[in-house]
Amino acid sequence: MSGPILQVENLRTYFHTADGLVRAVDGVSFNLGRGETLGIVGESGCGKSITCLSILRLVDPPGRIEPDSTIRLGDRELTRLSEAAMREVRGNAISMIFQEPMTSLNPVWTIGGQIAEAVRLHRGVGRAEGRERAAEMLGLVGLANPQRRLDDYPHELSGGMRQRAMIAMALACDPDVLLADEPTTALDVTIQAEILDLLCELQERLGMAMIFVSHDLGVVAQIADRVIVMYAGQVLEEGATEGIFSRPRHPYTEGLLRSTPKLTAKLPRLATIAGSVPSPKRWPAGCRFHPRCPHAWDRCREDVPPLLAVDQPSRCWLEEEPQRRTRRGEAGG
Ligand code: SF4
Repeated sequence: MSGPILQVENLRTYFHTADGLVRAVDGVSFNLGRGETLGIVGESGCGKSITCLSILRLVDPPGRIEPDSTIRLGDRELTRLSEAAMREVRGNAISMIFQEPMTSLNPVWTIGGQIAEAVRLHRGVGRAEGRERAAEMLGLVGLANPQRRLDDYPHELSGGMRQRAMIAMALACDPDVLLADEPTTALDVTIQAEILDLLCELQERLGMAMIFVSHDLGVVAQIADRVIVMYAGQVLEEGATEGIFSRPRHPYTEGLLRSTPKLTAKLPRLATIAGSVPSPKRWPAGCRFHPRCPHAWDRCREDVPPLLAVDQPSRCWLEEEPQRRTRRGEAGG
């Protein structure tokens, strides 16, 4: 079957709180190709994680996916599925791994028992077959002595091993899509590299598509085919990884790249993006990035920019008025 495996269109996830409406994800659209890795980058609070949780319909009240949002997985429209049908999708067609393995691992259950249970639930196999699959998966993610590890509890494993066990559980049912939400952020740099290598290798071997969420552009550059840059609940720029990193179009992407350390002989002082992500209860009018943008002019404060340009769309009026680009912005704001 050709075409994207996952199509997200106009996803809006709002939290209807007593304090007002929180528009955490506000009109996000993207496609994920089969076997592709899509990186989602942006600062904390920009809506990356809520986007992933929305795809799995794991947003709890007062959060809600708004009615005209669509999330298509193959020929299924996930926003319309019953909760029972959605349980079939989770951990089976779409799996998710988190920054903290204990989010998905139960501390009072053996690793093998948890993986076997997931397989039994979704594949309807017997106890012995589930356990066999669990051992196979632990071996696949590089745990030594997988048969022995089956009876370990999560606390008996190191941080890196727990992360591997979580990946084993997520992949045990051969998902079409893996959602990886900052899976290496809490790990030491060496372990981080090992887990990234492992994810790349497994993806190639198993052919799944992956959404890799991170605030760390360096990590995303290593793993993603395509990148979307999120800010204030919206996509600000989208393109092939190479284009985003070598020819960023949006001032926010430029700012993110300037604040990422590079391996140069003498490290220059890192630039930062002025200000902070605004509150989702009160996104700024016009371009949501305007209070922090070194190029902002009147139009930016009043008119909402759509995604402009075709090959590497950017939600910025500079696409129409490039002469407004200021020297201050070029210098790092
Ligand atoms: Fe900056 Fe204006 Fe572009 Fe927004 S639309 S990013 S404020 S130049």
